[in-house]
Amino acid sequence: MNRSITSKLPDVGTTIFTIMSQLAADTDAINLSQGFPSFDPPDELLSRIWHHLNNGANQYAPMTGVPGLRVALAEKTTRLQGRIVDADHEITICCGATEGLFSAIQAIVRAGDEVIVFDPAYDSYEPAISLAGGVTRHIPLTVDKSGFDFAIDWQQLADTISGKTRLIVLNFPHNPTGAILQDADLDKLAEIVRSTDCYLLSDEVYEHIVFDGEPHCSLLAHDELWERTLVISSFGKTFHATGWKVGYCIAPNYLSAEFRKVHQFTTFSISTPVQHGIADFLVSNPEFYEELPVFYQRKRDFFCGLLKDSRFNLQPAHSTFFQILNYAEISSEIDKDLAIRWTRDNGIASIPLSVFCEQPFTGTRLRFCFAKDDATLEAAAEKLCDL
Ligand code: PMP
Ligand code: GLN
Repeated sequence: MNRSITSKLPDVGTTIFTIMSQLAADTDAINLSQGFPSFDPPDELLSRIWHHLNNGANQYAPMTGVPGLRVALAEKTTRLQGRIVDADHEITICCGATEGLFSAIQAIVRAGDEVIVFDPAYDSYEPAISLAGGVTRHIPLTVDKSGFDFAIDWQQLADTISGKTRLIVLNFPHNPTGAILQDADLDKLAEIVRSTDCYLLSDEVYEHIVFDGEPHCSLLAHDELWERTLVISSFGKTFHATGWKVGYCIAPNYLSAEFRKVHQFTTFSISTPVQHGIADFLVSNPEFYEELPVFYQRKRDFFCGLLKDSRFNLQPAHSTFFQILNYAEISSEIDKDLAIRWTRDNGIASIPLSVFCEQPFTGTRLRFCFAKDDATLEAAAEKLCDL
């Protein structure tokens, strides 16, 4: 056939997560690339969903989300962030964080608007901005001498904001670097945006996976920032259930109203029995997400410990279930080529960082997911120690 189409996303290919997971499957490699646990959600959560499946919760959920789930989230938000949110008007359940981010960007960004992201930036932001007619401005996170501690250059942010800036996208706890924000960072951000009209989109999907006793400093907790922020999160990470694609958007009434205008025509509503089951479990088992930092910190330490005699340089991640390994002592190959070669030839799949950056990225770092059972981590570490 001779037909062709002018692409709306000419620079976009297939996501690195799809490429690396497919390659890992094709080559039978251990897949530490795409971020998903190798274990199941808790039994009690599964049985709550099963209960609702068997008790008639099988038709459309309300467009904004099952009321019990929105109320449970409002209570959690007040308890953890001190923010009182209106479950009816300020919380919307959406199809994973991916839909939340997409709907928020379509709702806020107009043609010609500029949107600031920090590189390495999660891969779904820029295509969503482009589809809204916006222009993405990339600011690289700075990295300190250790090569592992990433942070926002506040001066560069202040210098990049202009009258055209409509939205700033933040993602802390940060995928892939594990960087987190402190309260003082939120105050700096508030100072910078105070005199502007820009909105904030805060991707907090790893809100419950922060280590070493550090708190998660959510934009929800900051009185001034909250007024202009949409916070997006997901149950995928919190309940070991990335395949369920249930997420949420918490935003002040006037922003939630705009978010819902898009959400209702993107997915309309989200799986009913899953929402009911999660609502029950959030209320009955808060210790599950409260204990998540300990659960994942043990995995982080186990994985890092197994690598202590390897030739990788590392610093244990501050958050998320990703560990960055610096391979400078082993190879000078470009990260993407190396990730592919090690998957094919050495049976271990990872994610290169350069694909999340606008500027050519010269670092020798790969991201490895440690949300795996111990046997998988041991088998992976054995391969990594042989490199
Ligand atoms: N944002 C970040 C930073 C992520 O790592 C992910 C994926 N894990 C998402 C958004 C998408 O989340 P979901 O799978 O709930 O759509
Ligand atoms: N967020 C996951 C990661 O960083 C991937 C999600 C996806 O495949 N879209 O690995």
